[in-house]
Parts: sequence; C-alpha cells; structure tokens
Amino acid sequence: MNTIDKFNEHVMGTYGRYDVVMEKGSGRTAIDENGREYIDFGSGIGTNSLGYCDEDWAEAVCAQVKAIQHTSNYYYTKVQADFASKLAEVTGYDKMFFGNSGAEANECAIKIARKYSFDKYGKDAKRYNIITLVNSFHGRTVTTLSATGQDVFHNYFFPFTEGFINVEANNIGDLKAKLDDSVCAVMMEFIQGEGGVNPLDKAFVDEVFKLCAEKDVLVIADEVQTGAGRTGTFLASEQYGVKPDVTTLAKGIAGGVPVGVCLANEKCAGVLSKGTHGSTFGGNPLACAGGLVVVNKVSSEGFLDEVNKKAEYIRSKLAEMDEVAGVDGLGLMMGIRLKTKSAADLCKACLDNGLLVLTAKDKLRLLPPLNITYDEIDRGIEILKGLLV
Ligand SMILES: *Cc1c(COP(=O)(O)O)cnc(C)c1O
Repeated sequence: MNTIDKFNEHVMGTYGRYDVVMEKGSGRTAIDENGREYIDFGSGIGTNSLGYCDEDWAEAVCAQVKAIQHTSNYYYTKVQADFASKLAEVTGYDKMFFGNSGAEANECAIKIARKYSFDKYGKDAKRYNIITLVNSFHGRTVTTLSATGQDVFHNYFFPFTEGFINVEANNIGDLKAKLDDSVCAVMMEFIQGEGGVNPLDKAFVDEVFKLCAEKDVLVIADEVQTGAGRTGTFLASEQYGVKPDVTTLAKGIAGGVPVGVCLANEKCAGVLSKGTHGSTFGGNPLACAGGLVVVNKVSSEGFLDEVNKKAEYIRSKLAEMDEVAGVDGLGLMMGIRLKTKSAADLCKACLDNGLLVLTAKDKLRLLPPLNITYDEIDRGIEILKGLLV
C-alpha cells in the first residue's frame, strides 16, 4: 500500500492535505518521496525558521538526544536554563513557562490573566472576561477556540469555555464600549495570521495599552506566528513600541521542534505558583536545544537586518507582478492581495510548479525561512512570476 493510502487508513482526516509525501529537506528546499524538489516559501507554517535541517540546529538537537532526551519537571536541565536565559535577554521578559504548542502557550496566558485578577480582586469580582479580536486565531483547544474570534470555529464542541468577548480589530469605539469591569485581559495578534495577514493600526494598539493601563487589565500578545524574528524584529511588539504584560511564542521559536512559550513581565511573573500549571513535555531538552540555536542565530548581529532586506527585495519583486494588488504584513510575513485569481488555486499551482506557499483567507501567504538565500528567493519568485503575471 502506498504511503498516502496507509496514512489515510489510520490517521484522522482533520486536514485538507495535498497528495505529496515529504521525505527530506536541505537549505530552503523540501524533497518529496519521488525526489521532486520544492522551494519553501512557507516554512511549515512559519515554523522552520532556519529552513530544513540547519547544520547547527540539527547538531544541537542530535547532541541533546544523545545526552538526555527527557527528564520530568521534577528535575532541572541546563539546556532549559540556557534557553530561558537567552530568551529573557532577547525579549526583555524575565519569566516564562514552556509548553509544546501555540494553543498551550495561549492557555497559559489565559490562566495567568484570570488568576492575576482572581488573586488581586477576589472571586466575587467576577473579573474574568478576556477581550479577543474579531477574525483572530488563538488555537484548537476548547478554550483557545473560544478565544478565537471567528464563528466558524464555534461549532460542534459545546459547551465552549465562557468568558471571551470579541471586539472588532482597529475599532476603538467598540473596544471602549466592551472594556468594562468584568474584563481581566485583552488578547491580540499584532498581525492576524490565519485571519488573513491583517496588521493592527498603531493607534488602536496604543489605545489598548492606554485603557488597559488605566484599568489594570492585562495585555496579552499572541506572537505565535509573528514572533521569533518573523516580522523583522524579534517580537512584532517592538515595531509598535509597546511591551505587553504577557507574550506567547511557538511556531518559529524552535525551528521545527515543538515548543510553546508564555513570557510574562514582572507584574505577572509570580501568578502561576507551584501546582497551578504544568506540562509533562514542557521544556523538553531536545526542544530547548533546538530553540536555543534559533534564538542565538536570530538575535545575532545583523541577522534581522538581513531578514528586512530580503523582505524588501521580495516585496519589490511582487509589486512588479500584474496579479498582485498589494502585499500586507511586516518583514517575512506577507499576505498577497490578488486582483482576480483564487489564493487556493494559486497555492496548488505553486505546489505543482515546485514552490510551497500558504493561504490566509483570500490572500496568498508567504512565510519564507528567515535565512533564505537570494538565490532561493529568485527561484521562488520565478515560479510565482509564471503564475502571477
Ligand atoms: C498557529 C497559531 C496558534 C496555534 O498554534 P498551535 O501550535 O497550532 O497550537 C495560535 N495563535 C496564532 C497567532 C497562530 O498563528
């Protein structure tokens, strides 16, 4: 039986997959079981920040696997300490919790927000609502689905977790009307990823921070997709000139091994006390080893300048294509607005022509590996040109 049939016989059909079996990769090129090569402009949904099997990354992960692959959270490991310390240095957040995915990082943020208010204002204050934005995406667990501001996700799995209120992105009036004494946090993506690569306005972000500061409401930034250098700064919040109380990371932070991080500022650092949160795999040594290499590289001298230069180069090439109405997003997080063509059809056509891209709603989404070379960019752009001109 071929791989696809065997796979479908036993793995739940929760994804719409293309009929391609990926076997290996090197640089920014994935190779399928038939030896066909694909330039990667998708990074496994923004995850393979350093492309496929980066030498330093692979070496660190392999060395860790051979040293100690896991120990329970009853004990300490050096690699987790090193990863945490480097992340603290780079992000300016002193405290963090490690999980294994974006949804878990967000669950942790939600627990921090609710317990922060519970501890400070008491149970009777019922200060537990969290404002999230229309069209947001925060994950697939029951609670993060609740947090996700898209009705299509609020189906089948009733009853959902209560306590989420949606505000329209960039609508300050809506925010003011809903930010009452029942609210403990506002949670948002600076650029909605799955929602269509939609950046928030600076004025809206400033208003969120101003109102939240006045009311002692926490600001949670879901940087699962925008973080780890994706937008040209280590965190997208840097470009908005703000520091959220809590920031979550996952996707690109560890280069393709599963890590979710919930970063907390001083105000929230002690909220999750002993016994209030945990994860068997959280902070797993091989995941931390991968993460440490990514953070070291992305924060190294000149790396993000290169990311920004490449982003500008790609954007200038895209602007020359007839079918491109515009490109949204920041850095190497791009949502291409199309004039006439369907993003889904184009995504498939790219695949057929040897290029991996993504969609986000009706846009073609590009999340190339952060260390992609100009030669690889040019090869990908050539394929796009053939389809978009
Ligand atoms: C992908 C994503 C998530 C969910 O991450 P998982 O690792 O799939 O749980 C949450 N928030 C944002 C902004 C994302 O892009």
